[in-house]
Amino acid sequence: MMLVPYSGGLDSCAMSVKLLTDPKIDKIWFHHFGLIDQTKRSEPEYIAWKTFREWALARYAKKLILSESILDLRFMPTNLMNMQLFVFNCALICQATFEITQVALGRIKDDEEGDNPEQVHYIKLFNHAKKQSPANICYPVLDKTKGELYKSLPLPLKKAWWSCKKPTHTEVGFYPCKKCPTCKALATYNIEHHRFVRRQLHGQAS
Ligand SMILES: [Zn+2]
Repeated sequence: MMLVPYSGGLDSCAMSVKLLTDPKIDKIWFHHFGLIDQTKRSEPEYIAWKTFREWALARYAKKLILSESILDLRFMPTNLMNMQLFVFNCALICQATFEITQVALGRIKDDEEGDNPEQVHYIKLFNHAKKQSPANICYPVLDKTKGELYKSLPLPLKKAWWSCKKPTHTEVGFYPCKKCPTCKALATYNIEHHRFVRRQLHGQAS
């Protein structure tokens, strides 16, 4: 079984679609880690997760496991890199679930080259507890750019992701900052980062 941490961003959304449509993969566990911190990105990310979850359940229910958890870190003076949290939580799930043989991460061509030390550390951590069935990390969209990933999305998911790291909240919704590294990366591919309206907390992105 493959474990996929799902942030709600464009990269994880497009990677997940690719994995779901791969007939060689028979079971995928998606887990959304909600990270509440001072950036206020957790709400629009949760809307994105809910929209993907409903899309996937309607089409691939038999090959899915879906779960979510939330961590409130607003007391901390600075923000954690969410990838650290993702990989650490994957390590915890893997230790408790021997059926997981792979963990898929949404690293892409645009990301900086080189090994990610905390990922390697956590792989060793969970494999230590899984000597009979070690899990490995894989990067299914490592050869893709953000532009290619956006083009690969099916129409219902074109606006169902949230990648801005520092959104603005208003009474009516959430707006991308257009300044964070991800917003700038999207702009280089002429991908417009849509806004989410608040009612989407109880419904789908549109
Ligand atoms: Zn931004």
